Amino acid sequence: MTDQSNTGTVLPAEVSPDERQTRPALIRGWQRKCPCCGSGPLLYGYLKIHDSCPSCHEELYHHRADDGPAYLTILIVGHILAPLLLFVFVRFRPEPFTLFAVFAIGCVSLSLYLLPRLKGAMIGFQWARYMHGFRQKP
Ligand SMILES: [Zn+2]
Repeated sequence: MTDQSNTGTVLPAEVSPDERQTRPALIRGWQRKCPCCGSGPLLYGYLKIHDSCPSCHEELYHHRADDGPAYLTILIVGHILAPLLLFVFVRFRPEPFTLFAVFAIGCVSLSLYLLPRLKGAMIGFQWARYMHGFRQKP
């Protein structure tokens, strides 16, 4: 039933020049780089987005990330730390202040790590899918 000749991979030659690939744009955004060229910085400060890429001059101000990266950060951090908190409490029964200190620092650190990366990935996704104002140049 499986077709051995079709592996499902898309060769670069088969990709139209007008088509933007989503996966590389997501990875570049996660690395906080421009989703178009991958070399210019996407962010300045902690979460501010350059209006255009300093390297390739791709317009980046069209993004509409809004609260999406914060929601994704809460979703991921909550799903990692809540079960871990329960496991640590049941298995090791640490002192309450020790448990609070470790998980408070872990929660804040993981959130600060994920937030700019998820914002970059979300902007990369929007760029790759021509969402909002990310359109082809005439
Ligand atoms: Zn660029």
